[in-house]
Amino acid sequence: MKIESRLAQIGSIKEPVTGAISFPVYQATAFRHPRLGESTGFDYARTKSPTRAVLEEAAAELESGDAAFACSSGMAALQTIFALFSQGDHLIVSLDLYGGTYRLLERIMSRFGVSASYVDTDDLEAMDKLVQPNTKAIVIETPTNPLMLITDLEAVCTWAKSKGLLTIVDNTLLTPFFQRPIELGADIVIHSATKYLGGHNDVLAGLIVTKGKELSAEMAVLHNSIGAVLGPQDSWLLMRGMKTLALRMERHQYNATRMAEYLLTHPAIAEVFYPALKDHAGHEVQNRQSSGNTGIFSFKVKDARYVEPILRHIKLIAFAESLGGVESLMTYPAVQTHADIPVEIRNAVGVDDRLLRFSVGIEHIDDLIADLGAALEAARAEIAGEVSV
Ligand SMILES: *Cc1c(COP(=O)(O)O)cnc(C)c1O
Repeated sequence: MKIESRLAQIGSIKEPVTGAISFPVYQATAFRHPRLGESTGFDYARTKSPTRAVLEEAAAELESGDAAFACSSGMAALQTIFALFSQGDHLIVSLDLYGGTYRLLERIMSRFGVSASYVDTDDLEAMDKLVQPNTKAIVIETPTNPLMLITDLEAVCTWAKSKGLLTIVDNTLLTPFFQRPIELGADIVIHSATKYLGGHNDVLAGLIVTKGKELSAEMAVLHNSIGAVLGPQDSWLLMRGMKTLALRMERHQYNATRMAEYLLTHPAIAEVFYPALKDHAGHEVQNRQSSGNTGIFSFKVKDARYVEPILRHIKLIAFAESLGGVESLMTYPAVQTHADIPVEIRNAVGVDDRLLRFSVGIEHIDDLIADLGAALEAARAEIAGEVSV
Protein backbone atom coordinates (compact mmCIF):
# COMPACT_ATOMS: atom_id res chain seq x y z
CA MET A 1 0.00 0.00 0.00
CA LYS A 2 1.22 3.53 -0.76
CA ILE A 3 2.42 5.67 2.11
CA GLU A 4 -0.47 8.18 1.77
CA SER A 5 -2.96 5.38 2.44
CA ARG A 6 -0.95 3.95 5.32
CA LEU A 7 -0.72 7.37 6.94
CA ALA A 8 -4.44 8.11 6.62
CA GLN A 9 -5.29 4.69 8.09
CA ILE A 10 -3.03 4.80 11.18
CA GLY A 11 -4.81 2.92 13.95
CA SER A 12 -8.09 2.62 12.05
CA ILE A 13 -8.32 -1.19 12.08
CA LYS A 14 -6.69 -1.76 15.44
CA GLU A 15 -9.66 -1.54 17.80
CA PRO A 16 -11.27 -5.00 17.84
CA VAL A 17 -14.18 -4.45 20.22
CA THR A 18 -16.14 -1.46 18.91
CA GLY A 19 -14.51 -0.96 15.52
CA ALA A 20 -13.69 2.65 16.42
CA ILE A 21 -12.01 4.26 13.39
CA SER A 22 -10.01 6.61 15.62
CA PHE A 23 -8.02 4.45 18.02
CA PRO A 24 -9.05 5.16 21.63
CA VAL A 25 -6.91 6.80 24.29
CA TYR A 26 -6.16 4.10 26.84
CA GLN A 27 -5.33 6.07 29.93
CA ALA A 28 -4.66 2.98 32.13
CA THR A 29 -1.21 2.52 33.63
CA ALA A 30 -1.87 -0.99 35.03
CA PHE A 31 -3.28 -4.05 33.28
CA ARG A 32 -4.87 -7.12 34.86
CA HIS A 33 -3.03 -10.42 34.39
CA PRO A 34 -5.33 -13.30 33.30
CA ARG A 35 -3.45 -15.67 35.62
CA LEU A 36 0.03 -16.30 36.97
CA GLY A 37 2.56 -16.29 34.16
CA GLU A 38 0.09 -14.84 31.66
CA SER A 39 -0.22 -11.34 30.24
CA THR A 40 -2.48 -9.57 27.73
CA GLY A 41 0.74 -8.14 26.29
CA PHE A 42 0.33 -5.12 28.55
CA ASP A 43 1.56 -5.06 32.15
CA TYR A 44 2.60 -1.55 33.08
CA ALA A 45 2.28 1.56 30.89
CA ARG A 46 5.93 2.64 30.95
CA THR A 47 6.89 -0.66 29.32
CA LYS A 48 4.00 -0.84 26.86
CA SER A 49 0.78 1.08 26.56
CA PRO A 50 -2.02 0.40 24.01
CA THR A 51 -2.39 3.83 22.37
CA ARG A 52 1.36 4.34 22.27
CA ALA A 53 1.83 0.82 20.86
CA VAL A 54 -0.37 1.62 17.85
CA LEU A 55 1.66 4.76 17.19
CA GLU A 56 4.94 2.85 17.57
CA GLU A 57 3.87 0.10 15.21
CA ALA A 58 2.91 2.69 12.58
CA ALA A 59 6.20 4.58 13.02
CA ALA A 60 8.31 1.41 12.66
CA GLU A 61 6.45 0.48 9.51
CA LEU A 62 6.60 3.96 7.95
CA GLU A 63 10.38 4.18 8.48
CA SER A 64 10.98 0.57 7.34
CA GLY A 65 12.36 -0.33 10.76
CA ASP A 66 11.80 -3.29 13.07
CA ALA A 67 10.67 -1.39 16.17
CA ALA A 68 9.77 2.12 17.25
CA PHE A 69 9.74 3.86 20.62
CA ALA A 70 7.68 6.95 21.35
CA CYS A 71 9.32 9.41 23.72
CA SER A 72 8.18 12.50 25.59
CA SER A 73 10.18 14.79 23.26
CA GLY A 74 12.79 14.68 20.53
CA MET A 75 15.46 15.36 23.16
CA ALA A 76 14.16 12.46 25.28
CA ALA A 77 14.51 10.26 22.19
CA LEU A 78 18.10 11.45 21.66
CA GLN A 79 18.98 10.92 25.33
CA THR A 80 17.55 7.39 25.16
CA ILE A 81 19.61 6.67 22.02
CA PHE A 82 22.79 8.14 23.53
CA ALA A 83 22.33 5.81 26.52
CA LEU A 84 23.55 3.08 24.14
CA PHE A 85 27.03 4.51 24.72
CA SER A 86 29.38 4.13 27.67
CA GLN A 87 32.20 5.99 29.29
CA GLY A 88 35.09 6.36 26.86
CA ASP A 89 32.97 6.06 23.72
CA HIS A 90 33.34 8.56 20.88
CA LEU A 91 30.81 9.79 18.31
CA ILE A 92 31.18 11.52 14.95
CA VAL A 93 28.48 14.14 14.51
CA SER A 94 27.18 16.53 11.80
CA LEU A 95 28.82 19.94 12.16
CA ASP A 96 25.70 22.03 11.49
CA LEU A 97 23.65 20.32 14.16
CA TYR A 98 20.38 21.03 15.97
CA GLY A 99 21.43 23.20 18.95
CA GLY A 100 19.70 21.01 21.53
CA THR A 101 21.55 17.91 20.35
CA TYR A 102 24.85 19.78 20.55
CA ARG A 103 23.98 20.92 24.10
CA LEU A 104 23.03 17.37 25.17
CA LEU A 105 26.34 16.02 23.88
CA GLU A 106 28.56 18.81 25.20
CA ARG A 107 26.89 19.61 28.54
CA ILE A 108 25.57 16.21 29.61
CA MET A 109 26.99 13.26 27.67
CA SER A 110 30.50 14.71 28.07
CA ARG A 111 30.12 14.36 31.86
CA PHE A 112 29.49 10.64 31.33
CA GLY A 113 32.70 10.36 29.32
CA VAL A 114 31.09 10.22 25.87
CA SER A 115 32.91 12.56 23.48
CA ALA A 116 31.93 13.89 20.06
CA SER A 117 33.80 15.25 17.03
CA TYR A 118 31.94 17.56 14.65
CA VAL A 119 32.51 17.30 10.92
CA ASP A 120 30.90 17.84 7.54
CA THR A 121 29.33 14.38 7.25
CA ASP A 122 29.51 14.55 3.47
CA ASP A 123 33.32 14.59 3.65
CA LEU A 124 34.36 10.93 3.98
CA GLU A 125 38.07 11.78 3.98
CA ALA A 126 37.70 14.15 6.93
CA MET A 127 35.60 11.52 8.72
CA ASP A 128 38.25 8.82 8.12
CA LYS A 129 40.70 10.96 10.07
CA LEU A 130 38.33 11.21 13.05
CA VAL A 131 37.73 7.49 13.56
CA GLN A 132 39.37 6.26 16.75
CA PRO A 133 39.37 2.75 18.24
CA ASN A 134 36.62 3.92 20.63
CA THR A 135 34.39 5.49 17.92
CA LYS A 136 30.97 3.86 18.07
CA ALA A 137 28.57 5.78 15.88
CA ILE A 138 27.93 8.58 13.45
CA VAL A 139 25.08 11.01 14.04
CA ILE A 140 23.69 12.72 10.94
CA GLU A 141 21.13 15.35 10.09
CA THR A 142 20.28 15.75 6.40
CA PRO A 143 19.32 18.36 5.52
CA THR A 144 20.96 20.11 8.42
CA ASN A 145 19.20 22.85 10.26
CA PRO A 146 19.48 25.76 9.55
CA LEU A 147 21.99 25.63 6.67
CA MET A 148 20.36 22.79 4.77
CA LEU A 149 23.57 20.87 4.03
CA ILE A 150 22.95 17.49 2.45
CA THR A 151 24.73 14.26 3.33
CA ASP A 152 24.78 11.31 0.94
CA LEU A 153 23.16 8.78 3.26
CA GLU A 154 23.94 5.66 1.25
CA ALA A 155 27.63 6.60 0.97
CA VAL A 156 27.93 7.40 4.68
CA CYS A 157 26.04 4.29 5.83
CA THR A 158 28.33 2.12 3.68
CA TRP A 159 31.36 3.91 5.09
CA ALA A 160 30.07 3.53 8.68
CA LYS A 161 29.46 -0.20 8.20
CA SER A 162 33.01 -0.65 6.91
CA LYS A 163 34.27 0.96 10.13
CA GLY A 164 31.89 -0.96 12.39
CA LEU A 165 29.96 2.17 13.38
CA LEU A 166 26.24 2.58 13.97
CA THR A 167 24.53 5.19 11.79
CA ILE A 168 21.97 7.39 13.56
CA VAL A 169 19.93 9.75 11.37
CA ASP A 170 17.76 12.62 12.60
CA ASN A 171 14.98 12.54 9.99
CA THR A 172 12.87 15.32 11.55
CA LEU A 173 13.02 17.67 8.56
CA LEU A 174 11.98 15.25 5.82
CA THR A 175 9.83 12.67 7.64
CA PRO A 176 9.32 9.16 6.22
CA PHE A 177 7.00 10.68 3.62
CA PHE A 178 10.03 12.13 1.81
CA GLN A 179 13.04 10.14 3.10
CA ARG A 180 13.58 6.74 4.74
CA PRO A 181 17.17 6.48 6.00
CA ILE A 182 16.86 2.84 7.12
CA GLU A 183 16.22 1.86 3.48
CA LEU A 184 19.54 3.56 2.68
CA GLY A 185 21.44 1.63 5.37
CA ALA A 186 20.91 3.53 8.64
CA ASP A 187 20.51 1.64 11.93
CA ILE A 188 18.54 4.18 13.95
CA VAL A 189 16.21 7.00 12.94
CA ILE A 190 15.19 9.70 15.40
CA HIS A 191 12.42 12.28 15.05
CA SER A 192 11.39 15.32 16.88
CA ALA A 193 7.75 14.41 16.22
CA THR A 194 6.94 17.85 17.65
CA LYS A 195 7.67 19.14 14.15
CA TYR A 196 6.21 17.75 10.90
CA LEU A 197 4.85 14.45 12.22
CA GLY A 198 2.66 16.20 14.81
CA GLY A 199 2.38 19.10 12.43
CA HIS A 200 0.14 21.49 14.37
CA ASN A 201 2.45 23.09 16.96
CA ASP A 202 0.46 21.39 19.72
CA VAL A 203 2.23 18.19 20.79
CA LEU A 204 5.77 17.64 22.09
CA ALA A 205 6.99 14.17 21.14
CA GLY A 206 9.94 12.12 19.92
CA LEU A 207 10.28 8.86 18.03
CA ILE A 208 13.09 6.33 17.75
CA VAL A 209 13.01 3.71 15.00
CA THR A 210 15.53 0.85 15.04
CA LYS A 211 16.63 -1.72 12.48
CA GLY A 212 17.74 -5.17 13.62
CA LYS A 213 16.55 -7.53 16.33
CA GLU A 214 19.38 -7.02 18.79
CA LEU A 215 19.45 -3.24 18.54
CA SER A 216 15.65 -3.10 18.87
CA ALA A 217 15.75 -5.27 22.00
CA GLU A 218 18.47 -3.11 23.51
CA MET A 219 16.52 0.08 22.73
CA ALA A 220 13.42 -1.42 24.36
CA VAL A 221 15.41 -1.90 27.57
CA LEU A 222 16.69 1.70 27.45
CA HIS A 223 13.26 3.15 26.65
CA ASN A 224 11.67 1.29 29.55
CA SER A 225 14.56 1.91 31.96
CA ILE A 226 14.93 5.64 31.31
CA GLY A 227 11.16 6.10 31.17
CA ALA A 228 10.97 9.26 29.07
CA VAL A 229 7.98 7.73 27.25
CA LEU A 230 5.08 9.43 25.48
CA GLY A 231 1.74 9.57 27.31
CA PRO A 232 -1.51 8.20 25.84
CA GLN A 233 -3.12 11.57 25.07
CA ASP A 234 -0.04 12.81 23.25
CA SER A 235 0.32 9.50 21.41
CA TRP A 236 -3.22 9.92 20.14
CA LEU A 237 -2.64 13.55 19.16
CA LEU A 238 0.50 12.59 17.27
CA MET A 239 -1.30 9.83 15.34
CA ARG A 240 -4.09 12.27 14.51
CA GLY A 241 -1.51 14.68 13.10
CA MET A 242 0.30 11.96 11.13
CA LYS A 243 -2.85 11.00 9.24
CA THR A 244 -2.54 14.21 7.17
CA LEU A 245 1.26 14.16 6.85
CA ALA A 246 1.24 13.51 3.09
CA LEU A 247 -1.04 16.45 2.30
CA ARG A 248 0.83 18.77 4.61
CA MET A 249 4.31 17.88 3.34
CA GLU A 250 3.25 18.42 -0.26
CA ARG A 251 1.91 21.88 0.59
CA HIS A 252 4.91 22.75 2.79
CA GLN A 253 7.22 21.82 -0.09
CA TYR A 254 5.21 23.80 -2.64
CA ASN A 255 5.01 26.92 -0.44
CA ALA A 256 8.68 26.76 0.60
CA THR A 257 9.82 26.39 -3.01
CA ARG A 258 7.71 29.34 -4.18
CA MET A 259 8.88 31.44 -1.23
CA ALA A 260 12.56 30.55 -1.77
CA GLU A 261 12.25 31.50 -5.46
CA TYR A 262 10.66 34.81 -4.49
CA LEU A 263 13.46 35.65 -2.04
CA LEU A 264 16.17 34.67 -4.54
CA THR A 265 15.24 37.64 -6.70
CA HIS A 266 14.64 40.11 -3.85
CA PRO A 267 17.20 42.96 -3.68
CA ALA A 268 17.57 42.76 0.15
CA ILE A 269 18.46 39.05 0.17
CA ALA A 270 22.04 37.84 -0.21
CA GLU A 271 21.56 34.06 -0.21
CA VAL A 272 18.86 31.41 0.04
CA PHE A 273 19.67 27.96 1.43
CA TYR A 274 17.19 25.41 0.13
CA PRO A 275 18.03 22.04 -1.47
CA ALA A 276 15.10 22.27 -3.89
CA LEU A 277 16.95 25.10 -5.68
CA LYS A 278 19.02 23.87 -8.64
CA ASP A 279 22.23 25.62 -7.64
CA HIS A 280 22.20 24.21 -4.08
CA ALA A 281 25.32 22.08 -3.57
CA GLY A 282 23.30 19.11 -2.32
CA HIS A 283 20.50 19.35 -4.90
CA GLU A 284 21.37 16.16 -6.83
CA VAL A 285 22.02 13.97 -3.80
CA GLN A 286 18.83 15.25 -2.19
CA ASN A 287 16.82 14.37 -5.31
CA ARG A 288 18.36 10.91 -5.43
CA GLN A 289 17.76 9.91 -1.81
CA SER A 290 14.51 11.75 -1.04
CA SER A 291 11.24 12.05 -2.89
CA GLY A 292 10.71 15.69 -1.89
CA ASN A 293 11.91 18.70 0.06
CA THR A 294 11.21 19.94 3.54
CA GLY A 295 9.17 23.07 4.24
CA ILE A 296 11.94 24.98 5.97
CA PHE A 297 14.77 26.96 4.49
CA SER A 298 17.12 29.70 5.56
CA PHE A 299 18.16 32.94 3.98
CA LYS A 300 20.70 35.67 4.57
CA VAL A 301 19.82 39.31 4.36
CA LYS A 302 22.47 41.57 2.82
CA ASP A 303 22.60 43.78 5.91
CA ALA A 304 22.16 42.55 9.51
CA ARG A 305 20.18 45.73 10.27
CA TYR A 306 17.27 44.16 8.37
CA VAL A 307 16.77 41.36 10.91
CA GLU A 308 15.17 43.24 13.79
CA PRO A 309 12.61 45.20 11.70
CA ILE A 310 11.69 42.11 9.62
CA LEU A 311 10.87 40.17 12.80
CA ARG A 312 8.89 43.16 14.10
CA HIS A 313 6.89 43.71 10.90
CA ILE A 314 5.86 40.16 9.91
CA LYS A 315 2.23 39.65 10.90
CA LEU A 316 0.88 36.44 9.38
CA ILE A 317 4.26 34.76 9.84
CA ALA A 318 4.97 34.45 13.58
CA PHE A 319 8.36 35.23 15.09
CA ALA A 320 8.73 31.95 16.97
CA GLU A 321 11.03 28.99 17.41
CA SER A 322 10.17 25.50 16.24
CA LEU A 323 9.24 24.36 12.76
CA GLY A 324 7.09 21.92 10.87
CA GLY A 325 3.62 23.11 11.85
CA VAL A 326 0.79 24.31 9.65
CA GLU A 327 1.43 27.89 10.82
CA SER A 328 4.41 29.76 9.34
CA LEU A 329 7.16 30.60 11.82
CA MET A 330 10.36 32.55 11.43
CA THR A 331 13.30 32.43 13.79
CA TYR A 332 16.76 33.91 14.22
CA PRO A 333 19.04 30.91 14.82
CA ALA A 334 22.11 32.84 16.07
CA VAL A 335 20.29 34.08 19.17
CA GLN A 336 17.58 31.41 19.51
CA THR A 337 17.82 27.75 18.46
CA HIS A 338 21.61 27.85 18.11
CA ALA A 339 22.51 30.13 21.02
CA ASP A 340 24.23 27.26 22.84
CA ILE A 341 26.70 26.69 20.03
CA PRO A 342 29.88 28.78 20.53
CA VAL A 343 30.04 31.84 18.29
CA GLU A 344 33.28 30.71 16.56
CA ILE A 345 31.66 27.41 15.52
CA ARG A 346 28.45 29.18 14.49
CA ASN A 347 30.29 31.69 12.32
CA ALA A 348 32.53 28.99 10.85
CA VAL A 349 29.50 27.03 9.63
CA GLY A 350 27.62 30.18 8.60
CA VAL A 351 24.96 30.59 11.31
CA ASP A 352 25.74 34.29 11.63
CA ASP A 353 23.82 37.47 12.45
CA ARG A 354 22.37 37.79 8.92
CA LEU A 355 20.73 34.35 8.84
CA LEU A 356 17.00 33.85 9.28
CA ARG A 357 15.17 30.52 9.23
CA PHE A 358 11.71 30.21 7.81
CA SER A 359 9.37 27.30 8.54
CA VAL A 360 6.85 27.81 5.77
CA GLY A 361 3.35 26.76 6.79
CA ILE A 362 0.37 25.70 4.70
CA GLU A 363 -1.27 29.12 4.37
CA HIS A 364 -1.90 30.49 0.87
CA ILE A 365 1.42 31.33 -0.76
CA ASP A 366 0.16 34.74 -1.95
CA ASP A 367 -0.55 35.79 1.64
CA LEU A 368 2.87 34.59 2.81
CA ILE A 369 4.72 36.44 0.04
CA ALA A 370 2.67 39.59 0.72
CA ASP A 371 3.46 39.42 4.47
CA LEU A 372 7.22 38.95 4.11
CA GLY A 373 7.36 41.38 1.19
CA ALA A 374 5.72 44.09 3.29
CA ALA A 375 8.09 43.41 6.21
CA LEU A 376 11.12 43.64 3.91
CA GLU A 377 9.86 46.93 2.48
CA ALA A 378 9.17 48.34 5.97
CA ALA A 379 12.67 47.31 7.06
CA ARG A 380 14.21 48.95 3.98
CA ALA A 381 12.34 52.21 4.63
CA GLU A 382 13.47 52.28 8.27
CA ILE A 383 17.11 51.62 7.40
CA ALA A 384 17.02 54.28 4.67
CA GLY A 385 15.67 56.75 7.25
CA GLU A 386 12.45 57.28 5.27
CA VAL A 387 10.37 56.56 8.37
CA SER A 388 11.16 56.97 12.03
CA VAL A 389 10.92 53.89 14.25
C1 LIG B 1 13.32 20.18 17.52
C2 LIG B 1 14.37 19.23 17.11
C3 LIG B 1 14.91 18.30 18.01
C4 LIG B 1 14.47 18.26 19.46
O1 LIG B 1 13.16 17.82 19.58
P1 LIG B 1 12.14 18.31 20.75
O2 LIG B 1 10.88 17.63 20.35
O3 LIG B 1 12.09 19.79 20.70
O4 LIG B 1 12.69 17.81 22.03
C5 LIG B 1 15.87 17.43 17.54
N1 LIG B 1 16.29 17.46 16.26
C6 LIG B 1 15.81 18.35 15.37
C7 LIG B 1 16.31 18.35 13.97
C8 LIG B 1 14.84 19.26 15.76
O5 LIG B 1 14.37 20.14 14.88
